[in-house]
Amino acid sequence: MSFPTDLEIAESATILSIKKIAEKLEIQDDDLEYYGKYKAKIPLKYINEKKIKKAKLILVTAINPTPAGEGKTTVSVGLNDGLNKIGKKSIAVLREPSLGPVFGVKGGAAGGGYAQLIPMVDINLHFTGDFSAIEKSNNLLSALIDNNLQNRKFSLNIDPRTITWKRVMDMNDRSLRHIVIGLGGTKNGITREEGFNITPASEVMAILCLSKDFEDLKIRLGNIFVGYTFDKKPIFARDLKAENAMAILLKDAIKPNLVQTLEGNPAILHGGPFANIAQGTNSIIATKMGLSLADYVVTEAGFGADLGAEKFLHIKCYYGKIKPDAYVIVATIRALRYQGGAKKGEYESPNLPFLKNGFGNLTKHIENGFKLGFKPIVAINHFAADSQEEIDYIISECEKLGVKAILADEFTKGGAGMTDLAEEVVRSAKSGENNFKPLYKVEDSVEHKIDTIAKEVYGAESVVYSQKAKNQLKTIYDLGFDNLPICMAKTQKSLSDDETKIGRPSNFNITVREFEFATGAGFIIPILGDMMRMPGLPNVPAAEGMFIDKDGKITGLS
Ligand code: ADP
Ligand code: MG
Repeated sequence: MSFPTDLEIAESATILSIKKIAEKLEIQDDDLEYYGKYKAKIPLKYINEKKIKKAKLILVTAINPTPAGEGKTTVSVGLNDGLNKIGKKSIAVLREPSLGPVFGVKGGAAGGGYAQLIPMVDINLHFTGDFSAIEKSNNLLSALIDNNLQNRKFSLNIDPRTITWKRVMDMNDRSLRHIVIGLGGTKNGITREEGFNITPASEVMAILCLSKDFEDLKIRLGNIFVGYTFDKKPIFARDLKAENAMAILLKDAIKPNLVQTLEGNPAILHGGPFANIAQGTNSIIATKMGLSLADYVVTEAGFGADLGAEKFLHIKCYYGKIKPDAYVIVATIRALRYQGGAKKGEYESPNLPFLKNGFGNLTKHIENGFKLGFKPIVAINHFAADSQEEIDYIISECEKLGVKAILADEFTKGGAGMTDLAEEVVRSAKSGENNFKPLYKVEDSVEHKIDTIAKEVYGAESVVYSQKAKNQLKTIYDLGFDNLPICMAKTQKSLSDDETKIGRPSNFNITVREFEFATGAGFIIPILGDMMRMPGLPNVPAAEGMFIDKDGKITGLS
């Protein structure tokens, strides 16, 4: 019999009422805001700074992935079940999936196999409406901008050619990337170039996820940079008096969502910023909520550790005043084969030479973990096609580097396949061996901050700036935006900015082609390549394989 699909596993699970899950966390029934029987929002009053200090935060990151993703979410869900299985009060705190990838390539994004979050269909679709609220809040600002262009009486004198703010929609739709709006004559707006980004790429998403409370959210929304006036003065959302109305649309979206794992353990899903042009991790509020409600919080940083963990630490931990107590690097043997030169069709089957060749990628991520003040634990996310010889190789090579590599068997066994990893994570979190040391100070010059990440984290020789980037750098200093953390935008497939450089590249430079700044979210974005802000659908989109019957039963969602 073939292994069941994620959806089949999710649909056949016993699902508890969300009230039962909340009871485990000692949340009063009266305080829960129910979204049906299996989802609820938790009010912010449950955030408790004293409890946050005592609880342990487990960061799950990864090596550079294959295009398929290496299972950070799946391992995080499984590790949470494993921790509960060994008697710890643990919660997983993760991102909400975006509709674009669900109907595009990736399918569902709530874990996989026997390590999943449920209700799976709801989580992958409209869930509790947070993404819709973010989209509306973003698009309200767009409408206010275009209305101000039309309105001569209260004009802010915005130059339409300088507007960087874009509309968003949670769909993969490449034909909306570059469009012209305001056609149709004098009553129908000012004609200008516009474009749509996908909702997870909205700065409003990044802001929601970096805000510490509702007041902070409002201030950050007001700080969004929109464009310039004709006499080159910067315009912010607050100049359009937008921040209160935008925040009103987010009054529920700011509250974390409670769901459960297949094994009935608690999980919070909240926010979902992209990991390329944003910080790629769930909200600060959700992480602090998890730390307030449980003794262990398992959380994920998007993409590989060069992007995800670096930004988690230098951006999220900086604004959230939190730090991880354990650092788990997910490695898959197929990704290490890929990093060793195996092509599509080759990296799915055992091959020790490819694995040995690609092992340098894991080595670099382990060394980076040490540099950042951690003693990493390697989780080998076990796939059916892994050979014992390959597993043994990783374990013994990791031992030489002074770290433990442990087989993570969550996909086929759930929490029962994760107890070894859970025990090691608990030991590490309690040992005091993890003390995050930022690699740069926010007050350092922009160039110094970028240089540090490039050299220390990626292993680059130096950083090259295009003429455009040099000009923009001057603007960043002129406008006083230089004292912000850096949010690098580069490919996730390589440690370098060139996706063809696999393994552990050396002797390379990185090139900053241009800059963006997210002054509301609070970071500067050096762009090192073509960044996808509105993905397209593949030739055969996942949507085509989906089916719903007359009773509402869905198949093919994943
Ligand atoms: P990430 O969070 O790193 O992007 P996910 O956890 O979403 O990765 O996993 C990516 C895909 O790989 C999902 O479809 C998931 O079901 C699948 N997957 C993850 N781990 C395993 C495994 N051990 N065996 C088989 N498939 C897996
Ligand atoms: Mg993930």
